[in-house]
Amino acid sequence: MPADLDPGVLAEEQKGWERVQRVVCPGSFDPVTNGHLDIIARAAGVYDEVVVAVLINVTKKSLFTVDERVDMLQQVTGQYANLSIDRFHGLLVDFCAANGISAVVKGLRAVSDFEYEMQMAQMNYRMAKVETMFMVANPDYSFLSSSLVKEIARYGGDVSGLVPDRVLGALRERLAEE
Ligand code: ADP
Repeated sequence: MPADLDPGVLAEEQKGWERVQRVVCPGSFDPVTNGHLDIIARAAGVYDEVVVAVLINVTKKSLFTVDERVDMLQQVTGQYANLSIDRFHGLLVDFCAANGISAVVKGLRAVSDFEYEMQMAQMNYRMAKVETMFMVANPDYSFLSSSLVKEIARYGGDVSGLVPDRVLGALRERLAEE
């Protein structure tokens, strides 16, 4: 803490916070795209530790299983020593509490992301004082979402350059099975 920062300005619950800045990048990652990777890599450059957490959502139909999504994420993020891949279900704030995580990092692609993300961020802060840090999307990927990638690939469109090569292969195989 800087010498001139009076600890008295910190809220009571902030005083005990661990000083390791461990953050989480949550999402479905069905599958991971280059837009996700851009945010993940930038977060790993700014924070001490980054946990990429795959949401286990049994009610939502996914193309890849949680194990497959975790596996793909591991394969494409191996170069970051301060990054790990995990999974969670239920409330993100509970995952944060269980893992000593003080903040969520989200990418903002467009104004349309903002309203929902602001609501989630405010609720997470209200529930558990978990902060949300927004990173603006790389303009090269601001139009990109996993669902759009799947839709284009399903109709034979070219999604190379939008997902890592390993994911490209997995996508082709999975869609060929449909
Ligand atoms: P999506 O299907 O929209 O890609 P995810 O739940 O997998 O959804 O995304 C998780 C989070 O990753 C999003 O909330 C958003 O913060 C971020 N994200 C997704 N795609 C991009 C992108 N192209 N650029 C920046 N951030 C992104």
